[in-house]
Amino acid sequence: MTDQTPQTRAALPTSEEVQAEVAEWVAQNWWTQITVGEWWRRMSRAGFTSPSLPLDAGGRNWPGDLTSAVMATLAKAGALGPPGGLGLFLAAPTIAHHGSPAQVARYLPPILGGTEGCCQLFSEPQAGSDLAGLQTRAVRDGDDWVITGQKVWTSTAQTADLAMLIARTDPDAPKHLGITYFGIDMRQPGIEIRPLREMTGRAVFNEVFLDEARVPHADIIGELHRGWTIANATLGFERSGAGHGGGSFSPALPGSRAGDLAKPAAGFIGAEGPISGAAIGRRHLAMLDALVKEKGRASDPLVRQALARTHTDYHVQRMMGWKAKTFPGSRTGVEGNLAKVYNSSSVANARDAANMLLGPEAQLWHSPGSAGVFQEMTLFSPAPPIYAGSDQIQRNVIGARALGLPREPGPPSNTPFSELPKN
Ligand SMILES: Cc1cc2nc3c(=O)[nH]c(=O)nc-3n(C[C@H](O)[C@H](O)[C@H](O)COP(=O)(O)OP(=O)(O)OC[C@H]3O[C@@H](n4cnc5c(N)ncnc54)[C@H](O)[C@@H]3O)c2cc1C
Repeated sequence: MTDQTPQTRAALPTSEEVQAEVAEWVAQNWWTQITVGEWWRRMSRAGFTSPSLPLDAGGRNWPGDLTSAVMATLAKAGALGPPGGLGLFLAAPTIAHHGSPAQVARYLPPILGGTEGCCQLFSEPQAGSDLAGLQTRAVRDGDDWVITGQKVWTSTAQTADLAMLIARTDPDAPKHLGITYFGIDMRQPGIEIRPLREMTGRAVFNEVFLDEARVPHADIIGELHRGWTIANATLGFERSGAGHGGGSFSPALPGSRAGDLAKPAAGFIGAEGPISGAAIGRRHLAMLDALVKEKGRASDPLVRQALARTHTDYHVQRMMGWKAKTFPGSRTGVEGNLAKVYNSSSVANARDAANMLLGPEAQLWHSPGSAGVFQEMTLFSPAPPIYAGSDQIQRNVIGARALGLPREPGPPSNTPFSELPKN
């Protein structure tokens, strides 16, 4: 496990100093023909890919505002941002904070350099909200563990080199205590991936069948049977959106299977990545504001209310994510859950506001400009209240942990998993 101690503010550079350092570095390293792979390699060596990570994990140990200063300077200079995907967002901070030094050295360089893409093998057909009820099992065989079971809704599995996997290693322990967290190689014969098509027409997520897939004992992240804690760390990064320390992602894809590493980086500047509802982002707010003006509706009180709701929820979400990452002493412990719920409502509000402005055009598909973005957002908008744990589950957690409400009824928490009723 690496040192997570935040640096005191006095030991940190100012935002202006960071901007100057990054601008000078870009001037020395960015040129129009540089490939995506070479650019990301240089960025990770400079510690700019995810500056919020600890120093020995390839970051700068900087708080979110300085990470944002790095990303804003990259964008202002017209240079490509860091690799997108779940590697940088979720696996990197999880391994940096919970992996051994050998695992940090093994996993972080390819994730930060974008040479290996990553997916998250958590949800199962009977274990989504009740994730700790998962039934994929891992059985020890010499220096390996043999994994058998089914995962579902696995985003980007078809392009991933690596996965964060949780599997049951002790069925006789209470359900939260017999789970282990592994880093597993997706490029092996025991793993079959079947894409699932969404109503956007894309097939981002997949069913994943594990049939005696193998993972070395050395690739257990954290302790044997104690993977639930690590999985919650990953989910915390996901819910708060803080996994990348407030950074932003490039539309170029990482990884050896479908990555854009050999392509010129400049080709991705200004390109629209897949439109995600994961975080509405400033770009969507700016598009919404522009749409209001374009339609001449800036003085319409209903439109103004809808805009105010969208901006408010977006900023509350960002502040909660920021707090989850930046102020350890003043947390309630549910900032990530709150950020997740506000993300869902800001996406829904933006969708509703855009649909009000577009009228029947909202029901078309792939219109040019912002209309096309909002058409796709409309079809993707049911996803944010579901992924990373549904909003209902977040509210249960907020109720129990922050408001002191009674927990949901159920069998005693020390009941062995093997004795619990199963679907
Ligand atoms: C776009 C997208 C991408 C995803 N990517 C991934 C991924 O990469 N990896 C991964 O592992 N998973 C992924 N998921 C899966 C996601 O984490 C699960 O869908 C989610 O946890 C909900 O589980 P479920 O679908 O099994 O729904 P269920 O658990 O069956 O829930 C069904 C409904 O019942 C409600 N409900 C269930 N239990 C309770 C309760 N106790 N109290 C109140 N309400 C309850 C839920 O809120 C929901 O509305 C993704 C999902 C989506 C939509």
